[in-house]
Amino acid sequence: MHYMPKIHKLAPEEAKKVAAGEVAERPANVVKELVENSLDAGATEVSIFIKDGGRTLIRIIDNGSGMSKEDAYLCIEHHATSKITSVADLATITTFGFRGEALSSISAVSKMTLSTKEADQEVGTSLTIKGGAITDESVKALKTGTDISIADLFYNVPARQKFLKSKETEWRAIVQLFHAFCLSYKDVTFKLSHNDRQIYTIPKADSLEDRISQIFEPALKKTILLSEAKQDKMNLSLTVACSPPDYTRFDRSQIFCFVNNRWVKNYKLAQSLIKGYQGMLPPQRYPAGVLFITLDSEYVDINIHPRKEEVQFLHPRIIQSLIEQTVKAKLEEVQQSLFRPAQLAYTNQPQERPVPQPIIQEPVKELAALPFMMQPEAPPKELPTPEHQDAFLKAVTPYFSEEPKHEQQQLIVSDIDYRLIGQVHTTYILIEIECSLGYIDQHAAHERIVYERLKSQFEEIARVQLLFPQTVQLSKEDLDLLEKHLDLLKEFGITAKRNSDTELVISETPLFVKNQSLDDCIKQAVAVLHEHQYLDKKELQKIIQERIHALLSCKTAVKAGDELSHEEMHNLINELYSSKNKLTCPHGRPTIWELKTSELEKKFKRDYR
Ligand code: ADP
Ligand code: MG
Repeated sequence: MHYMPKIHKLAPEEAKKVAAGEVAERPANVVKELVENSLDAGATEVSIFIKDGGRTLIRIIDNGSGMSKEDAYLCIEHHATSKITSVADLATITTFGFRGEALSSISAVSKMTLSTKEADQEVGTSLTIKGGAITDESVKALKTGTDISIADLFYNVPARQKFLKSKETEWRAIVQLFHAFCLSYKDVTFKLSHNDRQIYTIPKADSLEDRISQIFEPALKKTILLSEAKQDKMNLSLTVACSPPDYTRFDRSQIFCFVNNRWVKNYKLAQSLIKGYQGMLPPQRYPAGVLFITLDSEYVDINIHPRKEEVQFLHPRIIQSLIEQTVKAKLEEVQQSLFRPAQLAYTNQPQERPVPQPIIQEPVKELAALPFMMQPEAPPKELPTPEHQDAFLKAVTPYFSEEPKHEQQQLIVSDIDYRLIGQVHTTYILIEIECSLGYIDQHAAHERIVYERLKSQFEEIARVQLLFPQTVQLSKEDLDLLEKHLDLLKEFGITAKRNSDTELVISETPLFVKNQSLDDCIKQAVAVLHEHQYLDKKELQKIIQERIHALLSCKTAVKAGDELSHEEMHNLINELYSSKNKLTCPHGRPTIWELKTSELEKKFKRDYR
């Protein structure tokens, strides 16, 4: 016979401890509940004091509405809330709290003190609570607002205490949460201290740009990119503030998403932001970005998670693609406006700043000597019709396919206004543009140009049948993987077949993949497959294409150390200007760097006059 334990009801204190685990698994959750309460109470100043990552102390002081004596006693009761009276209110609630169980649960598993005073009261109430039971009470002169401290979280639930992560980890989670509150409540002054050291003092900000620069990096104030988008469906509106491509992070810790002003952790939303930067960031680097999404509440479920950290959308794809497109469009827009059409504006005292003479006189060169021209090599036998050859040439050397011109005849056909100064260290091209000097990295710039050309040509891909099929050697493991995806290569213009355990035979290639890089292209594709084999086909195809284009453009582009004529430099500048994503090379390095005239003036102390 089995012994069947008798069912019994948990003692109320024990039940509370269980509930506490749902509301607050870790110190950051407690901080979140308390700060949300402060904001719900209309606080404009919230100060947070943490000790040992929140294990020994979490204290929040706010200047909100405060509580009456009765409410102070009531708020630690289970299901005590001032925010709803029935479950029906749940759908329309806009404040954070609504379960009325945060304070009661937290008080059950800690040593709490609560001091609070309402504005129209002379004195306030102070309570000491241990494990949910009031152990001390007093009437005190207090400032309006609420001051709650939580000491020794989980002191009476050793099982939970054991599962707390390191103090360092808990502290980082609190900082992340703090940043999220700062971003979504820019009108509130927030302070955060750890182990008696003031870490952040964030006064209320006038704009989102200001707020972002307060918490991420001051430099972002001027460079952060703001954009908005709307859609009638779902009453959807999106505000994005994101970093320029030359500001990158090693992780996603500066990406924040808010849905109806609630911070949510949603991988897909963050991923859509990152996708907007496609081809502009170095590998394994991430931008900073803040997304605010608002939409009618019937299209989003915020209650799928006990702590409301996750959300579920009815139409996630629409939202994701709106984010990606908005970011992408913004990045393209700023790149287009980099060179502003303008006169070379000399500000207050033009007579003192004569236009400098060119410092380098470049000898006229013949076209044949152009270092980064892809000469139409002696055409391989299998090369088909001339228009295919043209296509290739256009892809890699769009601006050198005309008759050689002498420098004197060179016209700058473009709507940018710049003056070429010359080549510096055979690596950079120096130009004068409105209010600044521009340094162009010749390799990075040319790489971007070729990359964009390849990309635009890719749609109608020209292929060549190889007279002598080429063999690529791979490890058996690599080939096993690649064999499953040979159709991907085919779409890219490479027709290949497995010949043995380790041999791949290629019979057809795209025209622009020269024989010598075929090997690299295949290996690049294998690397992508290893990294991303669980992605769907379309994604894989996109990544492979991008990598191969980057590889080819790197091989084709002019190198640092190559000497350029004025004509070549003009061509490169103009081509870069009209290129997409012109601020970075396909690997994410910058192509151009500006030295502002105002910086020069500072250096020479002209700005003090
Ligand atoms: P909820 O926020 O879901 O209502 P809580 O347990 O978090 O539940 O809080 C219970 C009640 O205590 C709140 O409804 C509110 O009336 C009051 N309260 C809690 N914190 C504060 C605060 N900082 N300032 C004013 N009132 C507060
Ligand atoms: Mg609450």
